[in-house]
Amino acid sequence: MLLSVRQRRILADMGIPVWRSRDTSATGIGPPGAEVSAAGVPAAAPEVGSGAQDSAVETLDWEALEARVRGCQACTELARERTQTVFGVGDRRARWLFIGEAPGAEEDRRGEPFVGRAGQLLDNMLLALGLDRHHDVFIANVLKCRPPGNRDPKPEESAACRGYLDRQIALIQPEVIVALGRIAAQSLLESEEPLGRLRGSEHRYQGVPLVATYHPAYLLRKPGDKARAWQDLQRARSCLA
Ligand code: SF4
Repeated sequence: MLLSVRQRRILADMGIPVWRSRDTSATGIGPPGAEVSAAGVPAAAPEVGSGAQDSAVETLDWEALEARVRGCQACTELARERTQTVFGVGDRRARWLFIGEAPGAEEDRRGEPFVGRAGQLLDNMLLALGLDRHHDVFIANVLKCRPPGNRDPKPEESAACRGYLDRQIALIQPEVIVALGRIAAQSLLESEEPLGRLRGSEHRYQGVPLVATYHPAYLLRKPGDKARAWQDLQRARSCLA
């Protein structure tokens, strides 16, 4: 993999050693010879409507799906508190699909997933892969609305919203899904295993290979785990056809 100066700088910032081959001008990542770099509680009363749990969602095109999400009132609390829905961003024919848990305050304000400091780190991780959020990448969340106070999504909210994500996946037809963080991974895989157990192996969601890795916000707090995240991304890349 040939790396630009900016990619090398980002990888160095992620704590990922970059090496230069002795016999070629090619630049690799990690030590020579290394395979890869070392780089609800349910509501007291039901407050969730059917949301995306409607077979009609499975037939919607992009425009109709986006409009349906924009007007969704299925989760009473979320619909009341949100500034706007956060549908997702990127290339609608992308090979890579990155999925987080839910919009935060900045995402709710701007209507785009993964903005702010965590979004910048995700952008840098994408750049290290030779990608950006508008080309060959789509970024979405399990939930399209911000949970107040950035609390974890409730299971019934995730269930209500799942059909929207599933329809996005059906339309995109990605080659690999990267679940960002414990909550997204557990939700998609319907697992209660800790992220440490879900990382390191390949899963499937909707028939698509799925790799679980750390949420960029976690990596901002624990930069020492960036190298592990890079290993996960390399694993995801190996899933591409
Ligand atoms: S989180 Fe999803 S299901 Fe709930 S109100 Fe928002 S768009 Fe609708």
